[in-house]
Amino acid sequence: MSFFNRPVETMPREHLQAYQLEKLQHVLQRIDGRNRFYTKKLSQAGATPYDIQSMADFFQLPFTTKAELVKAQADDPPFGTNATFPESTYTRFHQTSGTTGTPLRVVDTAKSWEWWGDCWAYVLAGAGVTATDRLFLPFSFGPFIGFWSAVLGAKRIGSLLISGGGYNSIQRLYLMRDLEVTAMCCTPTYALRLAEVARENDFDINTIPLRATIHAGEPGANVPSTKKRIEQSWGVKAYDHAGASEVGAYSFECELQPGGIHVTESEFIVEVIDPDTGVHVPEGETGELVITNLGRISYPVIRYRTGDLVQFTSQPCDCGRTFGRFQGGIIGRADDMVVVRGVNIYPSAVENLVRQFVEVDEFRVQIVKKKEMAELILEVELIPGTSPEGICKVIQQMFHNVLGLRPSVTAVDHGSLPRFDLKAKRFFYLFNE
Ligand SMILES: [Zn+2]
Repeated sequence: MSFFNRPVETMPREHLQAYQLEKLQHVLQRIDGRNRFYTKKLSQAGATPYDIQSMADFFQLPFTTKAELVKAQADDPPFGTNATFPESTYTRFHQTSGTTGTPLRVVDTAKSWEWWGDCWAYVLAGAGVTATDRLFLPFSFGPFIGFWSAVLGAKRIGSLLISGGGYNSIQRLYLMRDLEVTAMCCTPTYALRLAEVARENDFDINTIPLRATIHAGEPGANVPSTKKRIEQSWGVKAYDHAGASEVGAYSFECELQPGGIHVTESEFIVEVIDPDTGVHVPEGETGELVITNLGRISYPVIRYRTGDLVQFTSQPCDCGRTFGRFQGGIIGRADDMVVVRGVNIYPSAVENLVRQFVEVDEFRVQIVKKKEMAELILEVELIPGTSPEGICKVIQQMFHNVLGLRPSVTAVDHGSLPRFDLKAKRFFYLFNE
């Protein structure tokens, strides 16, 4: 079993909580009077950093929302009042993908960027990646933070890093084969896309000694049928990771894969709340993830509401880590749920169903809502040679059996739906109220 920092990852939970509180107090004291956003926020709540003597005190602090961070950016562009230190101390700029509104810009000092590297080292070590691995990153880098921090994590672990930026998919496959790549970081979608390109080009992917894929950017690696499909296509173990630009790389999957992701609790405090009341839900119940980062003093978040739904457990894992886990990974987003004919539908549930059909290469879902009546329309691209009539009916029946609704399922021409290198977009909401 490989660890990045075994003593920390396996410390008894009561020590872990004391460790978190100590780090939290340090963050609060460091940002007091320097970080304009949180100095104002805490003072409005009538709190000072020195009031926080226990986790119970901490849970009295107000939540932070993304809308507040976006406003803090607009109030003092370009980086906002949540940048703790003078601009000259910053060395890294990134921004969110902006798929759900205004892109949020985040900045890191050299020190907080090193912290990002540590967080990614937990991810890579968790997946069993070591200095003997050759780690492939099959995409070009942009302002999105995602895998930039994986580069630094690989440096910590000592792996040989290979970039496939500027190459097309078939060139990347040859590069992977020639350099005997053993591990790869990408979105789940792109892992499937590369396997599809290999098939289309009669390229035997078994000639690549890949054994681990590490996925971020989408929840797919914890959507059971997507994970299974990646693992079967490549003959690998697929690992999930969830993080966020404004928060950090806060989770990873261990080699035992107990059906969820570990939270890097040495670097983050997580809470799970009822999104309507803001009250903590009992352990094991689904609620909204709230995170506080403990190593990014240059751009902190304190009790940040992510909008993601999780189920937390602190039950020990057989891997030896005492870090708690989100069972099933990130289940969905609180605002992603849509009601179709009285049924609560999450995109991940739909993906899990569709990906069970090996005949389907790609798909797109449209939720069309007219006068309070929503319909789910599913378009599928089938592997060439598949007869559409039978399979569309079977998919429809499966939706009926599992989710209790009958979507319209149509086969579209192969290659007509978009393909994605980074974050995929397969769900579209067309509401005509
Ligand atoms: Zn584990």
